Amino acid sequence: MQPHRIVIAGGGTAGWMAANLFAHHWKDACVEISLIEAPNIGIIGVGEGSTPTLKRFFSDLAISEAEWMPKCNATYKTNIRFEGWSPKYAPKGYSHPFFGQLDTFSERAFHVNCRTRRLGLDVETQPDKFLFAGYLANQGLAPVTPDNFPFRIEYGYHFDSGLLGNFLKDRAVTQGVNHIQAEITAVAQHPDGSIKSLECDDGRSIEGDLFVDCSGFKSLLLQSTLKVPFNPFADNLFNNAAVVLPTSAFKDIPVETKSTALSNGWCWQIPLTHRTGNGYVYSNQYLNKDAAETELRAHLGLLDADIEARHLTMNVGQCEQHWAKNCLGLGLSQGFIEPLEATALHLVQIGIEMFIRDYQAGDFTSKHQDKYNSAMSERFERVRDYIVGHYKLNSREDSQYWIDNRENNAISDSLIQLLNTWYQKQDLVKEISRQNIDEHFSASSWHCLLSGYGLFPPKANNQPESLKEQGDLYRDNGLEAFFEGCALNFQSHNNVLKAHTEGAR
Ligand SMILES: Cc1cc2nc3c(=O)[nH]c(=O)nc-3n(C[C@H](O)[C@H](O)[C@H](O)COP(=O)(O)OP(=O)(O)OC[C@H]3O[C@@H](n4cnc5c(N)ncnc54)[C@H](O)[C@@H]3O)c2cc1C
Repeated sequence: MQPHRIVIAGGGTAGWMAANLFAHHWKDACVEISLIEAPNIGIIGVGEGSTPTLKRFFSDLAISEAEWMPKCNATYKTNIRFEGWSPKYAPKGYSHPFFGQLDTFSERAFHVNCRTRRLGLDVETQPDKFLFAGYLANQGLAPVTPDNFPFRIEYGYHFDSGLLGNFLKDRAVTQGVNHIQAEITAVAQHPDGSIKSLECDDGRSIEGDLFVDCSGFKSLLLQSTLKVPFNPFADNLFNNAAVVLPTSAFKDIPVETKSTALSNGWCWQIPLTHRTGNGYVYSNQYLNKDAAETELRAHLGLLDADIEARHLTMNVGQCEQHWAKNCLGLGLSQGFIEPLEATALHLVQIGIEMFIRDYQAGDFTSKHQDKYNSAMSERFERVRDYIVGHYKLNSREDSQYWIDNRENNAISDSLIQLLNTWYQKQDLVKEISRQNIDEHFSASSWHCLLSGYGLFPPKANNQPESLKEQGDLYRDNGLEAFFEGCALNFQSHNNVLKAHTEGAR
């Protein structure tokens, strides 16, 4: 029997994640996987924060944290801390944590308190008071549970993207993936337009049945060859450039990504074990490259430092089809939503998992292509909406960029309905469930954003007496003592990372 030939074009994180998951899931099927990577082109080399979905990636492949994390200089991530996005209403910023089982005890209290506060009553609404991961971040504790801890805690990771790529490459090759180091210079097509083979600069012609475009922003197969249109999100996501500068590692390594709003965009801070990654994501319609670099240097206290900055441009939007003819797009080639919530690799992983399910269910044909495409488009749009919310709701006055973002009304109906529900003091949990969008960003994520930005009416002058006895569920449910008690089971982040490194020796 002829093996089913899958050819992956590109060896960035997307390509190697796909190679590993395909090799794992189809190890007993008659499938041959090749990955072509141009050694001279290189990977984008950013993308160092994840969501908790990546935990499933490693556990599906039976790779332990002690095995991969030290090799990728990785750290744990419990949340993203937002600073400076809503200075008028929430000058201290807030945290958007990942949710775990412990939060099932407190999420309702969070939602109810946010609703009570929208009625003008003076109750606690800070997200990290209600959600355990935010509590861990404030204490510098790793989200790793002892064996006898009865609740599941969710978390993501920070990692060096180059090292992660190398790790995944070695792993895929040991699983039988054929690694071809060559530049693709031409693409041959069948008469029906589907892809026949990839022609390489060393003269090799690599034929396949399915091609996976992981070639990065150039989208060699999906956009360049198959001419699948790209729908930009520029109407409501203005950022299209980034400048990146590393700084030294923290002595006490935080478990959170920090996202700080700057004059015309925002800056990430991602703590790794050997360095801290920093990058300013901005719109070049409002700020030029040099000014962006100077502002980032000033923000990091590096104005006089001799460290070279790296400048990148970004195509923000998505392809009209993510799977077209016999080609699946994954990673930057299929589309990209700016990195505010570090969702790119999350979408890559979900895309691969959904594809494995649909391709197999369709007997390795494109039978379920339409279903797959509409599910992927929907995911991109709903993730985009959550990110757009951060810009639409900002209360900064320091530049036209922030004013234009706030005044921009090119936002989706779904987002308009969510914001209306909040401002009209209606039940946001119900609205999210009605729209069936909980799996993209949950009701608690939306509450974090809206309460974190301090979007509440002024407190009523006369607070009812009864509120003192009952009404603030944070206090009434004893959440502070509950979390304090739970946190006794957790160790410092540095200690947990050290134990991994010592175990890896
Ligand atoms: C500023 C910024 C910040 C980001 N932050 C995050 C984050 O925090 N979290 C997150 O999840 N994601 C983030 N991302 C996205 C993340 O970087 C990408 O999703 C991820 O790295 C996957 O990239 P890729 O594999 O699609 O493309 P790339 O890394 O660009 O890889 C492309 C591959 O294609 C190969 N190639 C190209 N042309 C050819 C050719 N002609 N022949 C052969 N091979 C070829 C290259 O050699 C390379 O191996 C960020 C992106 C940007 C721009």
